[in-house]
Amino acid sequence: MNNYGIDIWGDDNFIIDKGLVKLNYKTNPSLLEIVKSVRKEGNTGPLILRFPHIVQKQIDKLYSTFNETITSYAYDSKFYAVFPLKVNQFPNHILPMLQSSASLNYGLEAGSKAELLLAMSYNNKNSPITVNGFKDKQMIVLGFIAKNQGHDITLTIEGLNELETIIEVYQELNLPCPNIGLRVRLHSSGSGTWAKSGGINSKFGLSSMEILQAFEMLQKYNLTNALKMIHFHIGSDMNSISPLKKALKESGHIYVELKKMGADGLDSINIGGGLAIEYSQFNRNIQYSLKEFSNDVVFTLKDISEKNGVKPPNIFTESGRFIASPGSVLIAPTLELFSSEYNHSNIRLKEKNPPIIEELYFLYNDITKDNAKEYMHDSLEHLESILTLFDLGYVDLTDRSNAEVLTNLIIKKAIKLKDTKNDRELKILDDKIQEKYLLNFSIFQSLPDFWGIDQEFPIMPLTHLDKDATRSANIWDITCDSDGEIPFKANKPLYLHDVDLAKEEYFLGFFLVGAYQDTLGMKHNLFSSPSQVNIIFTNDEMKVESFIKSQSILDIFEDLDYDTTEIVDKLLSTTNDNDLKEKLEEYLEDNSYLKTTQIEERSSI
Ligand SMILES: *Cc1c(COP(=O)(O)O)cnc(C)c1O
Repeated sequence: MNNYGIDIWGDDNFIIDKGLVKLNYKTNPSLLEIVKSVRKEGNTGPLILRFPHIVQKQIDKLYSTFNETITSYAYDSKFYAVFPLKVNQFPNHILPMLQSSASLNYGLEAGSKAELLLAMSYNNKNSPITVNGFKDKQMIVLGFIAKNQGHDITLTIEGLNELETIIEVYQELNLPCPNIGLRVRLHSSGSGTWAKSGGINSKFGLSSMEILQAFEMLQKYNLTNALKMIHFHIGSDMNSISPLKKALKESGHIYVELKKMGADGLDSINIGGGLAIEYSQFNRNIQYSLKEFSNDVVFTLKDISEKNGVKPPNIFTESGRFIASPGSVLIAPTLELFSSEYNHSNIRLKEKNPPIIEELYFLYNDITKDNAKEYMHDSLEHLESILTLFDLGYVDLTDRSNAEVLTNLIIKKAIKLKDTKNDRELKILDDKIQEKYLLNFSIFQSLPDFWGIDQEFPIMPLTHLDKDATRSANIWDITCDSDGEIPFKANKPLYLHDVDLAKEEYFLGFFLVGAYQDTLGMKHNLFSSPSQVNIIFTNDEMKVESFIKSQSILDIFEDLDYDTTEIVDKLLSTTNDNDLKEKLEEYLEDNSYLKTTQIEERSSI
């Protein structure tokens, strides 16, 4: 049975049991029962399930691994971590995460004024805030306000002009200066898709010359003690660790050089983010473990510090993807299987049919396990011929329709008769005989990284996992955009089940979507962010909490800065019928996702 690579990407967070995906935690609820309980309230569109316990598991793993390494190397400084807000700013992710990690002093990283204001509002007491990204005077003033409020805040400067502004604000406000960090532009760059975040041509950071200039400026204004941190970030989703090792050596030496020059307050290196997540359903891509990662960090920094006779730096990390992605699952209901339109009752044979149609009809009735492959081949060829004949005017629309229906029926029968996955020849046909699954969701809204950078996400049905999945699957979303498709790939094939949607629902889960997807998602065709819930366990009892309904159509108009009162007026004043008015009002308050009917009447699985 296909396990959809759960052993590769699942990290024991989910299990397959009795044909269902279940949470591998506490009462082991199936995702299906969670989804059903949320849909009972009429939420039939796509849904994001968040599991705060999985996020906490990642945080615990990060801290315990680093702390064990620090102990085993007798490393004489501490480990700190912050969550980079840009990875997921949604309250359903942030608030439970901050609550459950307070005792670890898990902090926040902000990269814009909006994120900084969020961090100042919600960061746990005694937890650090780090600030990266390009800063104007306002953002720097915010840093001083945060410091004044008692936050442990570090402003990492990306350029000398930012340091100039810090000094200017320091003199103007006459308030204690926040900690200052220097983002260094490393010679070494990262690996993977985001390698351009590091390296000598990187968009971010100070060159060696600028570091020297920055230090001189700090000395001149008696601010050397504010300099606390060296920062780098070599890119996201690093699949290999060797660029990190180089970056550690480089930044470690910058750290000791600055210490020797008299940077007495300097006590930390921030290694940025970049810890990878195994997204593939097919093969492992990550070439290191968290343990190796922490060993390399701690060992390298200890080695450099000892050789230079300085106290080793505190270690800060800003890994975001690693923390957030496993915690959210997107669920999308299947609306339609493309071939379901092709059923027996749609064959409209005439008194006299073209010979090819007669032949197709014969193939359809005569197909057996032994000739299935051959008949399928033949039918595909016949279909091609009929399409050509149609273009030339030799057959009519009924003939063409018969050819399409019969070919689809033959393919369906053949797949049932044969074991597709283990049949090499049949596999070659996969591409031609794929089934199209229309799903009630938007790829642009919910999987923007699939659309933008071809990021893989594990996909699996929530049910039927005790049955063979026989259809090579192509996934369509409901946007009117041909890019809203996850095509079947022969080298990374997705097989799904042949289901009768009139009898049962078929949900697909898209896993590891907790990082970056939520806020990168866009309202293409005006589809809003899906409804979302948090799944919480208290005393071994599961609770579905923090339901946030997908934005209504009126809200979206509002976001686009339409005058929504005007829209409502226009629509209602030109409709006389009260019934129709009510409908308009109701629909405006709802979202754009398709309302599936008969949910209650459909038998449960
Ligand atoms: C984006 C970013 C991170 C988070 O990176 P991940 O790959 O998600 O761990 C950390 N630090 C900085 C400065 C960033 O820009």
